[in-house]
Amino acid sequence: MGRIIGIDLGTTNSLAAVWEDGESRLIPNAFLEYLTPSVVSVDEEGIVYVGKTAKERMMSHPKQTASVFKRFMGTGRKYHLGNKVFLPEELSAIILKKLKEDAEKYLGEPVEEAIISVPAYFNDMARTATKRAGKIAGIKVDRIINEPSAAALACQNAKMEEDALVLVFDFGGGTLDVSLVDCFDNVIEIIAVNGDNQLGGQDFDDAIGKYFIRQCNLNPEELSADTKAMIRVSAEKCKRDLTENKTAVMSVNAHQIHKEIELSRKDIVTICPELFERIGRPVRQVLLDGKKQAEELDQIVLVGGSCKMPVVKQYLKHLLGRQDIETMHPDYMIAYGVGACAGIKERKEEIKDMVLTDICPFSLGTNIINHNKDGKDLMSFIIHRNSPLPVSKENCYVNVLDNQRDMLIGVYQGEAMYAKENTCLGQLTFKIPPRPKGTVKCCVRFTYDINGVLEVDAFIPITNERKKLVIVNKELELTDEQIEQKLKEMEHLKTNPAQQEENDYVLAWGERLFMQCNRELQQEISKRMQYFQYILQEDIYRVEKLRKHLTVFLAYVEGLIKGDINWSNQEIETGSWYDEEDEEQRELEEAFQYWDGDDTD
Ligand code: ADP
Ligand code: MG
Repeated sequence: MGRIIGIDLGTTNSLAAVWEDGESRLIPNAFLEYLTPSVVSVDEEGIVYVGKTAKERMMSHPKQTASVFKRFMGTGRKYHLGNKVFLPEELSAIILKKLKEDAEKYLGEPVEEAIISVPAYFNDMARTATKRAGKIAGIKVDRIINEPSAAALACQNAKMEEDALVLVFDFGGGTLDVSLVDCFDNVIEIIAVNGDNQLGGQDFDDAIGKYFIRQCNLNPEELSADTKAMIRVSAEKCKRDLTENKTAVMSVNAHQIHKEIELSRKDIVTICPELFERIGRPVRQVLLDGKKQAEELDQIVLVGGSCKMPVVKQYLKHLLGRQDIETMHPDYMIAYGVGACAGIKERKEEIKDMVLTDICPFSLGTNIINHNKDGKDLMSFIIHRNSPLPVSKENCYVNVLDNQRDMLIGVYQGEAMYAKENTCLGQLTFKIPPRPKGTVKCCVRFTYDINGVLEVDAFIPITNERKKLVIVNKELELTDEQIEQKLKEMEHLKTNPAQQEENDYVLAWGERLFMQCNRELQQEISKRMQYFQYILQEDIYRVEKLRKHLTVFLAYVEGLIKGDINWSNQEIETGSWYDEEDEEQRELEEAFQYWDGDDTD
């Protein structure tokens, strides 16, 4: 039987972990790194690139590259990459398959099953889409867990303290998840969750970018898409620099503009106070829902990339009136947690007795008639938010009109008073016999399983009619044959052999840098890349050495672009990138004969 691994399928980055020798271990990818960017790219020949290489292609081949597709799981949104069309779950499947292959290489045994973490706010469509992604990737996915639960499990595991009340604050690229977790004996119980699925590090990038545009007196309408993309990239870099230093310079050198400004950490606070206000809201709400005070918290754990920002930590200290706020492996916590879940599922001795209880992150209910003037249907809640899972509850409703012929049971998710303002997940319709109002009953049962997948069952006793609704996006649901078909398609997706991954990456990196450089550097990059391509085809034994040379050179260029190296003072060392041996020099000259001629203008 194959192994079970845990996967944190993130918006920005994905990771895999496994339970080994009594602990959760992260699994390295081909670059010996734990983070695999959640990016997929397809080239003209239909070859698929995943992770780091695909991320490099984002700037050089934006139309063939997809990222942040996790946000659209289950929506049916289509991505046209090259001449292929993908759904978000198919792109996710490509990532899952890559993580699985890396894990198999690391473990030296087949991987059969994965436990995948999803954001607590994911609705049923997004959850079933995640399971579907697993199927398409050829991995069994029985269990989906909420990211905050995984983070809490990891933190409990790391500390192994007795009972603790923990606040987990997970602030990623595009979302904020806050959860209150009670850990006692071997039980991890989620008490309350809340969040903002439209708030993340990207909002800070946007705010800094806008500030830059204002400070430099630029007109946003006159900026090209390329320039705007560059401003975004520089803003994110500036934000990261402010994690390291108290002040940072943001500079943009595009064909349209050459400007720079200086920012301090304090500037972040003053240019986007509303973002901090929004960070505070879910934190207050979970404490309120869980009926706890900030003083009662035993641990406050910050996870997710955006928690690295010192201003965020500072704000939480201020908000909670606490100094003891920890940032624990912000990039890895969720992966450590899903790795532990995999250990529980594999019944590993050290962890097999651990119990993880989860809750329903939002309220679910149906619409009922409103007898007041405004006539907007009200929400009748059947399952309240923060109910422990699994949960099954029933409410009964009656016909509201004499001789009413149809009964509609809408299924809604959300906290608003009026049904319309919540998300409609589906509807059941019944034909009912004409009777006086209040005499035809319909019993509606909502069942929410441990994976957070909802099933609705409605029963009309008078006609003995029963209908079931499993909330899935019907158009996206796949039959067994279709899954089989997709599996085959995945098999036939063209990828380069694994040993070529590092070469692909270096080539993609070079192409991206080429776009960002001036003409002089472009020529240097191009020459080296052409030579490397030539070696790739002609002399496999020297590939590794040449790749190292090229890597050193590209890192150097990267430094120039980022402004880490002041390049007006530096001569580019042309001599350091090929072997000194004459023979190679000759090959090089040969390789460039055709190329020199082509590059006359
Ligand atoms: P997700 O869970 O959405 O996949 P992550 O938890 O990986 O995302 O967080 C990604 C976000 O973290 C991005 O907005 C990124 O800019 C931000 N980030 C990463 N490192 C830093 C840093 N050193 N300083 C500030 N922000 C950072
Ligand atoms: Mg995350």
